[in-house]
Order: sequence, then structure tokens, then C-alpha cells
Amino acid sequence: MTNKQKQCLLSYLGYYNGAIDGVFGSASKEATAAFQKDYGLESDGIFGPKTQKKIKEAVCNDEQPQVNWDSVKYFDREEFRCTCAGAHCSGFPVEMNPRVLSILDEVRGHFGAAGIVSSGVRCEKRNATIGGIAQSRHLLGKAADFRIKGKSAAEVLTYVKTLPGVRYTYAIDSAYVHVDVE
Ligand SMILES: [Zn+2]
Ligand SMILES: [Zn+2]
Repeated sequence: MTNKQKQCLLSYLGYYNGAIDGVFGSASKEATAAFQKDYGLESDGIFGPKTQKKIKEAVCNDEQPQVNWDSVKYFDREEFRCTCAGAHCSGFPVEMNPRVLSILDEVRGHFGAAGIVSSGVRCEKRNATIGGIAQSRHLLGKAADFRIKGKSAAEVLTYVKTLPGVRYTYAIDSAYVHVDVE
């Protein structure tokens, strides 16, 4: 597998948003490490045979990574429960995507202050009620809205934008930030 192919696969799965230039630099290595973490491989950033095999499987089988909550440092599954409070769903019409959780962990660790989640998973009805867009990534478990205690949304946003695998992020108000992944 060439470096360009590796970057293409990482990009396709939402881990890499740099140039497909065949130069396997720090951004490519970080993306590889993030993929490895999500798919239960040793997270060393080295794109070896095991990683090649796993990434081909993930693309070919359209395999969704499973969350290993033990590896999520600062957040619990309950914090991402749909906020319809059981009115329309069981709380988890889908599970959270591990990449979102890695990003939140990274941000929480960086700022060293509590992370407060206001929205993780949403069912269709809840999403509609709160005026979420129809194709919201919250419906797929691929988004989270959160704040970091004592930090402004602008500060948090600046940092989130530097992380690999972020598809889209914006400030919801002066404190809360939305982040989603591919
Ligand atoms: Zn719901
Ligand atoms: Zn959101």
C-alpha cells in the first residue's frame, strides 16, 4: 500500500483531512493513531500490516467502530443519552462514535477542566423538537455539543480545529461547541 493510498483510506474514514500527497508526516501519523485506537489496535501511529488489514476491512465491510468505554477517560455513556428523557426513544437509538469521544477526551485533557455535554445522541423526534437540521450528525451518534468549564467557546473551538478527524465544528453560543465527525 502506498502512502497516498493510506492517506486516502484514513481520509475516507474521516481520520485525515490533510493533503493526499504521499508524505506520511505527523498529521498522517496522528490520524493513524486515532484509527488504531478506535479499532482496538496498538495506537502507535505506525501504518503496519495489522493496520493495513484492519483499515481494508473497515472500508470493505462498512464496519462501524465500537466504543470501548473503559478507554474513554473523562466521559460516561450516560452523558450522551438522548435528551427526550425516554419520551420517544430508549436513550440510545444509536451508540456514540468513538472518534467523537476521543476528540472530547483530548479537549478535556488539554484544558484540564470539567467537560459538560449538552447533547450527544438524538432520536429523530428529539432532533426535530429542538430544531436540529434533518441530516444532523447527532442522529448518527457522530456529534456532540459540550463546553469546558471556565473556558469560552472561542477558546475551545480554536483547539478543536487543530485535532485530526474533525469534520465540522462551531460555537453554539458563548460557551458551547458542536463537533462532528465523518
Ligand atoms: Zn430520544
Ligand atoms: Zn450539535
